[in-house]
Amino acid sequence: MMKDIDFKGKKALVRVDFNVPLDEEGNITDDTRIRAALPTIRHILDQGGAVILLSHLGRPQKKRKADGSIDVERFTLRHIVGHLSELLGREVQFCPEPVGEQARRMATALQPGEVLLLENTRFEPGEEKGDEALARQWAELADVYVNDAFGTAHRAHASTATVAKFFPKGAKTMGFLMQAEVENANKVLHSPERPLTAIVGGAKVSDKILLLERLLDFVDNLLIGGGMAYTFIKSQGGQVGNSLVEEDRLELARQLLAKAEEKGVRMLLPLDSVIADRFAADAQTKVAPSDAIPDGWMGLDIGPDAIAAFSAVIMDSKTILWNGPMGVFEMEPFAKGTKAIAEAVARATGQGAFSLVGGGDSVAAVTRMGLADKVSFVSTGGGAMLEFLEGKTLPGIAALQD
Ligand code: ADP
Ligand code: MG
Repeated sequence: MMKDIDFKGKKALVRVDFNVPLDEEGNITDDTRIRAALPTIRHILDQGGAVILLSHLGRPQKKRKADGSIDVERFTLRHIVGHLSELLGREVQFCPEPVGEQARRMATALQPGEVLLLENTRFEPGEEKGDEALARQWAELADVYVNDAFGTAHRAHASTATVAKFFPKGAKTMGFLMQAEVENANKVLHSPERPLTAIVGGAKVSDKILLLERLLDFVDNLLIGGGMAYTFIKSQGGQVGNSLVEEDRLELARQLLAKAEEKGVRMLLPLDSVIADRFAADAQTKVAPSDAIPDGWMGLDIGPDAIAAFSAVIMDSKTILWNGPMGVFEMEPFAKGTKAIAEAVARATGQGAFSLVGGGDSVAAVTRMGLADKVSFVSTGGGAMLEFLEGKTLPGIAALQD
């Protein structure tokens, strides 16, 4: 834990997730992830330590230039330096290499209270392979290792997992953000106040199989929305028109419904849907029962009866976990269901329920609707949170405990 480490006079190697969205000119369009790492950085500096920051940005190995070289201009962490300096109120030094002679020199010269940001960890081909030699070079720069990059904790990369091996117990820890993510997820997993309701949506059943299976072991209510609902509805003999269906998951959907019944989990599918004659914002739309969608039409959002039924369950819940939007919320005519559910979760939270929203698109939806501060916890870790909730061991966390 952060509070058990004395950072005074120490150099801390801090893995953060500064993988922020940038516009064409390299301007940061959403700095949530940078802000989320500030408490950890500030704490170390306030205690009289120095901070060496490691982060990835984008996928520079996958998106190499035509001549095979790294697209430094696009993926450089230099884009972050100005804004980070402003947020911290002190100048952040930048090393244009992730590792090597200059990194070593700058790290050695670093004084208490100073911050050094190394170049994008993924410029090194060894990063994503979990390379030991690379990890060792990073470890040699510092006395203590702090991992605050929850968003990449499900990856066994050199800077997120391997590097921890080179620090003894007591000299490695989760940062405050990672700790909060883990504590909040554990609240849902291990000590929820009941009733506990999970709301799962998004495009596909296949993305969320493990999550759904796991949830059925301990939730009281499971509300299914989004595109995945139609595979369930079709598996029960419903007519879903041209809605998104995974034909190869119909049997699985039946099994999940059977498991819910067996376990006494109240599993609700959307009674009705907003259907459209095309996958487009200007399509013709109407409301139909979700199991009687005419051919040529597709369900793109949950309908008013579904909203009412889901909201009632949510309002009666003491713990709420939400992953996956209820409809194609990116298009205005199909955003109503997601918005209504977000509002219900916010209201339930106002009444004292604990609510956790996780998942890249779900978090984007809640944030865009201005409700992020009306739920108990918004996870910054999309895929990582999903894997944590599925009960998997995350390499970035496990490595800190060895
Ligand atoms: P998260 O990132 O929160 O885990 P997912 O990635 O699983 O969520 O799903 C989000 C996507 O699901 C969104 O792009 C949304 O448009 C899509 N989606 C939601 N409902 C439907 C639907 N009825 N038909 C097709 N796509 C849908
Ligand atoms: Mg997503």
